[in-house]
Amino acid sequence: MSTRQQGAPQETDPGDAGSPDPVQLRRLWTLVDNLDACFYVKDLDGRYLFANKALGTVFGCDPAHILHRDDAPFVDLSASSIGATDLHVLTTGEKIAADEQVCLTNGECRMFRSVKLPLFDEARRVVGLCGISTDITEQRRAVDELIERNDLLNTILANVDAAIYLKDAQGRYLYANGPVLALYDRDLAGLIGRTDRELMPVEAATRVAAYDAEVLAGEGDEVRDETIVGADGAKHHFRSRKVKLRLPGQPTCLIGFSTEITELRGLRTRLEQERITDSLTGLANRVMFESALEEQLVMASLGGVRLAVVIIDFDGFKYINNNFGQAIGDQLIQLVGQRLQQCNVTLGSLARLSGDEFAFTLPQAETVEEVAHQVEQIRAYLAQPYPVLRQPLHLTFSAGVSLSRGSLHGAAELLGRAEAAMYSAKDNGRDQYRFYSPELGSTVTARVELERDLRAAVGTGAFALHYQPKMRRDGGIAGFEALIRWDRPGVGLVAPDNFIPLAEQLGLLLHLGRWVIEQACRQIAAWRDAGLGTIPIAVNLSTSQLTSAALPDYVFDLMREHGIEPGCLEMELTESMMMSDPDLAIAILHRLRSGGVALSIDDFGTGFSSMSYLRQLPVNYLKLDRSFVRNCAVDPKDADLCAGIMALAHKLDMHVVAEGVETLEQHRTLAECDCDLFQGFLFSRPMSAGAATEFLRGAH
Ligand code: C2E
Ligand code: MG
Ligand code: MG
Repeated sequence: MSTRQQGAPQETDPGDAGSPDPVQLRRLWTLVDNLDACFYVKDLDGRYLFANKALGTVFGCDPAHILHRDDAPFVDLSASSIGATDLHVLTTGEKIAADEQVCLTNGECRMFRSVKLPLFDEARRVVGLCGISTDITEQRRAVDELIERNDLLNTILANVDAAIYLKDAQGRYLYANGPVLALYDRDLAGLIGRTDRELMPVEAATRVAAYDAEVLAGEGDEVRDETIVGADGAKHHFRSRKVKLRLPGQPTCLIGFSTEITELRGLRTRLEQERITDSLTGLANRVMFESALEEQLVMASLGGVRLAVVIIDFDGFKYINNNFGQAIGDQLIQLVGQRLQQCNVTLGSLARLSGDEFAFTLPQAETVEEVAHQVEQIRAYLAQPYPVLRQPLHLTFSAGVSLSRGSLHGAAELLGRAEAAMYSAKDNGRDQYRFYSPELGSTVTARVELERDLRAAVGTGAFALHYQPKMRRDGGIAGFEALIRWDRPGVGLVAPDNFIPLAEQLGLLLHLGRWVIEQACRQIAAWRDAGLGTIPIAVNLSTSQLTSAALPDYVFDLMREHGIEPGCLEMELTESMMMSDPDLAIAILHRLRSGGVALSIDDFGTGFSSMSYLRQLPVNYLKLDRSFVRNCAVDPKDADLCAGIMALAHKLDMHVVAEGVETLEQHRTLAECDCDLFQGFLFSRPMSAGAATEFLRGAH
């Protein structure tokens, strides 16, 4: 139908309701009739009132032949979707835009992109529709062909884990591989032509569309994380790369590659959670506490208030763990964590820092007195018995407090200060709290530096042995005691009392102790080889050595290596050293003794051994502590005590060495008490190996 008479709308006019200008109308008609797209008007029964040339071409007839007929003679309606869209417009009175498949009665199927509008009468009743349909069959085919053309590409697309999809500039899917189809629970035909708005909630779809629009507007590609709501209603997180793509002869479209990272994100969240929480109590850990504290400090500083940081620690927790087992220890930690959460003092943030150490802030304490009062309240609440054993367990706690001052201190520093104060409370007898003071700070700094230097020194030859002679009653040299010295850089020679306890704490003493024994063996061999005779050397042991079952074999190996005669290597130990594991210590001592090592009890009288206990020890010497020697020449009671100890030792077949003999009077008194050997400044201070060699030569 190519003329107005043939095809012009006869019952309704989609344009102006008034009397149209005939010239204008003809122009408009010519335009519409010659459109590439199909233009048509239908009545309520679906009969064509108007059809342009393009529709005639599609239906394969003259447009006039279409008029007053519905689609049935031209279209296989069972295989086409036009009936449904027509119905929608006619029944709802709404406009529709859709891609439609039209299968003609000759068997040919074509795709149209259609827009259909309702037509109304004066009473606003729908009386028909007018539509414009663009044939997009070739365009679709080109995309389909492009995708189908490459089998290899298809196989890859179908099998990759990533979601791959192609969308046109309007966001309509042109292609999607398996993962996309699975996500939306659709087959390819069910997805193509749809936009994300039709597939997921509008909010999520809008975000995706905005991202797509940016890619289409810009150059290059970009990787971003986006969230898709799948057909299962769940949020799926993707890392997407989207690229603007222009297929030959086709409008611009977008290709996307998206990898699902939902699990990865979950894992990351869990890891982050684990990074900041303590798994035993569920409280924050040190990392989390420090960052929360950092924030609170800023707020406190802005508000011009002070913030109190408190660290609280069980007293004697090691004892609990060792005696009742770690399970009880863990249970206690959990209970303390709970009590801290329940107590009626408001805590700003609360964390378990490590082991048995908890930290919190006190945001509602303004004055130092209030802080002290709240800390005491908490300590008292924590000190109530714990029902973890048959007998309720009583615990005490030590606490350290530091106070912020403006923005001067960071979280780590305040925590360090509270920790120093807490240790000071422990050192002062436990079961109390302490505020940080600058003096404490310098002690802590000094300790940290000492620790650093000591760790660095071990294994570097920074240590030396000095030797102090033990004299017989006749003035002859009975042997030497080896006493360690540390040549600390920038400080000079450091006496053992200043670093041995720390080295023991740091676990360095086993290593250092072996070096001492080896050095002593070398010295014995050196004096023997220099013709100075068999000179015994005594080394001092440490607790860690006395709990190391490997010690005897190691010592015997060294003795063999250096040809040390039995009785020539001596070892000194204090009674307290044996306390941590007496049975093991006694077993080790028996083995040492039977292997030819002479043993001495050092600082005798300062420990708390009973005489019956002493009898079990395979000891050759008692070294009478300097505290008895000091006054023995002036205080008859001390002299009596010395005499008593000596008599007893001799009864037990032990010899006595008096330590710290400084004066002739002391020497004489002790000799009168039957003392066997003497050591002290009266004869010589501890001296270097060279000086000791000279001392030996002088005595020859
Ligand atoms: P100790 O085994 O009781 O050693 C005797 C200490 O008394 C030495 O101190 C010595 O210099 C000092 N002394 C000796 N005669 C006199 C005196 O007449 N008057 C006074 N006032 N003091 C005297 P030093 O060398 O400072 O050693 C202290 C402690 O360090 C030793 O006490 C020992 O327990 C420990 N020690 C020394 N070397 C080692 C070692 O290699 N390993 C271990 N584990 N401990 C060591
Ligand atoms: Mg000693
Ligand atoms: Mg001693």
